[in-house]
Amino acid sequence: MWTEKAQAKINLTLDVLHKRPDGYHEVEMVMQTVDLSDHLTFTPSEQGEIVLSCTVPYIPLDNRNLVYQAAQLVKETFGIKEGIRIHIDKRIPVAAGLAGGSSDAAATLRGLNRVWGLGQSLDQLAELGAKIGSDVPFCIYGGTAIARGRGEMISHLPKVAPTWVVLVKPPIAVSTGDVYGRLNVAEIDKHPHTEAMVEALATGDVRQIAAHLGNVLENVTFSMYPEVERLKSQLLKFGAVGALMSGSGPTVFALADKEHRATRIYNALRGFSREVYLCRFY
Ligand code: ATP
Repeated sequence: MWTEKAQAKINLTLDVLHKRPDGYHEVEMVMQTVDLSDHLTFTPSEQGEIVLSCTVPYIPLDNRNLVYQAAQLVKETFGIKEGIRIHIDKRIPVAAGLAGGSSDAAATLRGLNRVWGLGQSLDQLAELGAKIGSDVPFCIYGGTAIARGRGEMISHLPKVAPTWVVLVKPPIAVSTGDVYGRLNVAEIDKHPHTEAMVEALATGDVRQIAAHLGNVLENVTFSMYPEVERLKSQLLKFGAVGALMSGSGPTVFALADKEHRATRIYNALRGFSREVYLCRFY
């Protein structure tokens, strides 16, 4: 039996540069993992099948699940006959903009690499992961990085001081495809400044990091779900140094400079939402 943690990610920046001829958007994002994670347990079995179980009842356990797809890809790529039982202890909110599914897929690649002794490097696993989804390569490594292309091209950044983060997920599900579909790249009025964020991260100063937060998908999601924008305002009102929507939403996060301020925001927001998490950059 082997256990892997699958960390949630937040976007400190999310920029869309243009729409590509292949239909994907060319993005540039500063990504950061936080210490909120799903726990995946791997148990080899004699039967050749992939069998999933999950603590959340409504998540599909067949090949619609990214964990299943990752396990299938590993079995096919390396000609593995053995089966595997994978249990997902889900703690990352689902369809939240926190890459829960992608991170589970990445943890599956890392876990099976270990369980089946495949000897693959993280770079090799990231290349494999890109076949499952654009966010999977970043989730293989975690930490802090710039993601470009469809999100699959990773440039690592130095480790950042463990900044406090409060995550809040309103009780709505947002479709990433829907948000990108409604985005008009020509109408983006303010693009985040990736290089300025990289410099701010190097200082480790929360105020500087907060000053350069930016996500061009915010206005699209805010126009569909005004409550997401209201939640962001609440975070700022209760003392966040900066706040932003992660990915295509609906999760918004706050950065705080001190633990007691983060705890105050966390406690205040629990009055508004059932899904509030206190965590740190990881
Ligand atoms: P992203 O930030 O990459 O857009 P997300 O946080 O918005 O991801 P996920 O939590 O990954 O979204 O889930 C989106 C959908 O994917 C869900 O509706 C769910 O049914 C499906 N899904 C497939 N595999 C998983 C998984 N292992 N965990 C969660 N959802 C999964």
